[in-house]
Amino acid sequence: MSRVVVFGLGGAIAMTSSPSGGVVPALSAEDLVAAFPGWLRRASRSRSRSRTFGACPGASLSFEDVYALAEAVRQRFTDGADGVVITQGTDTIEETAFLLGLLHACSEPVVVTGAMRNPTLAGADDPANLLAAVQTAAGATARDLGALVVFADEIHAAARVRKTTPPAARATPGPLRGEEDHRAR
Ligand code: ASP
Repeated sequence: MSRVVVFGLGGAIAMTSSPSGGVVPALSAEDLVAAFPGWLRRASRSRSRSRTFGACPGASLSFEDVYALAEAVRQRFTDGADGVVITQGTDTIEETAFLLGLLHACSEPVVVTGAMRNPTLAGADDPANLLAAVQTAAGATARDLGALVVFADEIHAAARVRKTTPPAARATPGPLRGEEDHRAR
C-alpha cells in the first residue's frame, strides 16, 4: 500500500455551514479523509494520513504559506511518503500548484485539488476530486511529473493549468453525435 499525506488548506472543499449563516472553510484535512472511511483506502490502494495546514479561502493564502507548505511536503517525502495531496480553494489553485512545482525537487508526486461545489451542496465534487487526487498521488505513473492539479477526473501539469468558469470551459463545441447542427451557417 502506498502512503499518501493529505494537507488541507481550506477553500470550498473544506466548507461547512456556519451558525451565523452561509458557509466557512472549517473542515480539517482529517475531516475530509475521515468522511470516507475505508472507501478512500480501498479505491486508491493507499493509506492516507492527513494534516491541516490552514482553513482559509484560496485568496487569503500568502507566498509565506506556500513556502511553509513546500517545506512540510519535502519533510513528508524525507519521512517516506509516496505522494502528497493538497486540498485548497480553487481561486488560487493554479498559483499554489505553480509555486509548489518550482519548489518541488523529489520524484514523488504533489497533487493539488479542491472543489467547485462545497460539501453542503447537491452534487458536491469533493469526494470525487479527493479520490482522484489520492489515486494519482498513490500511483507510480505520476512519479517525476512534478506538481499536478487533479480536478474533475483530469490530471493537469501545474505549470499549464488555469481555472475557468465551468460552463464556458465545458461548452460543447459542436453538435452531439447523431444530432443535426442547427446553428446558423
Ligand atoms: N472562494 C473559494 C476559494 O478559493 C472557492 C473555491 O474553493 O472554489 O477558497
